[in-house]
Amino acid sequence: MTLQRRLAVAVAALLVTLVVAGGLVLLSQRRYVTRQLDAQVAALVARPQATLSLAERAAAGARGGVLSEVWIGTVAPTGAVTTVLAPASDPGLLPRVAPGEALRVPVGRSTTAGDAPRVRVATGTLKGGTLLVVAVPTQRADAAMGRLALTLALAGAAVLLVVGAIVVWVRRLGLAPIREMTQAADAITAGERDRRIPDAPEGSEAAHLGDALNAMLDATRDSEDRMRQFVADASHELRTPLTTLRGYAELHAGRVEDPDTADALRRIRAEATRMHRLVEDLLTLTSLDRATLHLGPVDVRRLLDDVASDLQVAQPERLVTVEAAAGVRLVADEERLTQAVMALGTNALRHTPVTAAVRLTAYATGGEVVIEVSDDGPGIPPEELARVWDRFARVSQGRAGGGTGLGLAIVAGIVTAHGGRYAALSPPQGGVTFRLVLPAGSQAEGP
Ligand code: ADP
Repeated sequence: MTLQRRLAVAVAALLVTLVVAGGLVLLSQRRYVTRQLDAQVAALVARPQATLSLAERAAAGARGGVLSEVWIGTVAPTGAVTTVLAPASDPGLLPRVAPGEALRVPVGRSTTAGDAPRVRVATGTLKGGTLLVVAVPTQRADAAMGRLALTLALAGAAVLLVVGAIVVWVRRLGLAPIREMTQAADAITAGERDRRIPDAPEGSEAAHLGDALNAMLDATRDSEDRMRQFVADASHELRTPLTTLRGYAELHAGRVEDPDTADALRRIRAEATRMHRLVEDLLTLTSLDRATLHLGPVDVRRLLDDVASDLQVAQPERLVTVEAAAGVRLVADEERLTQAVMALGTNALRHTPVTAAVRLTAYATGGEVVIEVSDDGPGIPPEELARVWDRFARVSQGRAGGGTGLGLAIVAGIVTAHGGRYAALSPPQGGVTFRLVLPAGSQAEGP
């Protein structure tokens, strides 16, 4: 579970706890207040005669503080209700009690008249079956409960506000920088080598982590640059002796008569040629990372037609087809893109039997242009599809046709420099499809 989700769960748990705790406080407070009222009512109905006398005296003018908010009256067996003493704040109050109704334990009742909607009421028996009724309005207790509920709600809101502020603080200090770091790391993995982890709030753990990661990325970049420079320099230095080697081998191949020596010279020449190609590929690869692209509008249909013609010339008996709409265009380095598509096409010629058809496809979709080179050859085992793009990668069948093992790495370098993506796919009908996805606009990044 992400830290953000855990934080959300913690806040939700706190909210639930606050609501439940508030509800419990309200419930117990209401029970307490009701018990207080009931105790008052029960005490008065316990001695009906004495209470009646007390009420009559109070009504006659000697109103005591205890009875100031109590309704005391009688209900005759005939149903006649007599108010002996009414609450000072609600003189019209009339509780609902049936004649002869024995209510020893106080109960809640609605009223038939007066301002208070509900009362706690109990009855005692007087002489002749007349009931003594004692009722206390719950209005004041209800209002107090309302105030308590409001206070609890305000206190809860204040707690939530503080917790919310803490959450925002934690997110700003800890979570937002982590999210930004993840985005930056993803971008770096996708090829944005100059991207760095953004600054986090000063003094936070995220800031320390970001600084450490940036230092590591700088060090990695430096060492990559040094390695690339070394490969470029070494390849460059190898060019001249290789050319000399080839020259001498060619020169003497025709002159020697001994067949063994002639064969040795032929092999030296072939290997020197292969090594020369390797050196050229290495140089291309190192310059691809460094050189800026020469961007311009490219007519993809025309580019594929040109590559198809070249492939057809190389192998006239091969079936090479192009499937692309006329209007597919993108902004790219035309020479490099042609080099990439040509490398894929040449691979198809080299790694598949001549009977296998080769298809060059292109289409535009959602601001991107997809170029595919497919063939009906033996294909590549699925577990090897991802690593064919690696430098010097060999799939299980080995390397055919004197390839250098850098062809697909160069294609990948060209596509990455354009800000695009690449993939090798194994279609269900067999063969292999190499897919290049390039931004149609001019978002190509400098290496
Ligand atoms: P190479 O110089 O060996 O062709 P690449 O980088 O161009 O190097 O290709 C890497 C490997 O991918 C090749 O050795 C080959 O085994 C495999 N491969 C490339 N294209 C195809 C294809 N069209 N069909 C089958 N295998 C292929």
